[in-house]
Amino acid sequence: MKLFISADIEGCAGVTAKPSVTIGGHDYSASREQMTREVVAACEAAREAGATEIHVKDAHGSGLNIYPERMPKGVILLRDWSGDPRNMVDGLDESFDAVLYIGYHSKGGSEGNSLAHSMSSVKLHSIRVNGEPVSEFYLHNNLASYYGVPSVMLSGDREVCEESRRLVPGLKTAVIKEGRGALMASVSSETACDRIREAVTAALTQGPLDRCLMTLPEHFTVDLVYKWHQDAHVYSFYPGCQKIDPYTVRFESTDWYEVARCLAFTT
Ligand SMILES: [Zn+2]
Repeated sequence: MKLFISADIEGCAGVTAKPSVTIGGHDYSASREQMTREVVAACEAAREAGATEIHVKDAHGSGLNIYPERMPKGVILLRDWSGDPRNMVDGLDESFDAVLYIGYHSKGGSEGNSLAHSMSSVKLHSIRVNGEPVSEFYLHNNLASYYGVPSVMLSGDREVCEESRRLVPGLKTAVIKEGRGALMASVSSETACDRIREAVTAALTQGPLDRCLMTLPEHFTVDLVYKWHQDAHVYSFYPGCQKIDPYTVRFESTDWYEVARCLAFTT
């Protein structure tokens, strides 16, 4: 069984404010430590459930958060960014059996996490697909579906867990925290790792992995809602994009890979 793990940081235990997720910020090293622990817990549980190959994408900010020396033997760690449109699942292809998501968070435009955002937290207010605001899980689950690989497990805040389960009914989730305004109510480091192990085991042992494979919609209308009208103006020049109001750029396609390519240049 060959697995892909995409790891973010805003959904990890204890991680709360901007300085906790930025290189040089207060608590950043504690956040790196917790992200690493949660990824290690997922890898260990996956191994016990029969995974023979595991690739981990460090998918937050610099892509240099997870402590590489702590990765279990045999795990391939993907650090930094190549610029590939697969973005937070860069390296994923048809050869994988399943994707797991660690440390994921609520979408831009929502209040489930004090650090809620979709892709660039600096430039974007939110991303809508076919009229609905979407999370980074939604975007990367679509890429996984594009390659025919099911998304089977996710950990993060309560809102992203609940929403992702509605999207992929067979998905197993581990709720790590809950946001209320700027406040974050988080379980302990150890409890987070226990919940992740349980969810990974359940995801990989309870029924065929294909139960989580999604069929993609036939058409995508993608609205990028920027925080600044200046950015909307610049990105409206990406081929196929049009500005539909001073803050919103629309891109339409029947091919999710083309949407991902557009996002790689506009977010
Ligand atoms: Zn992040």
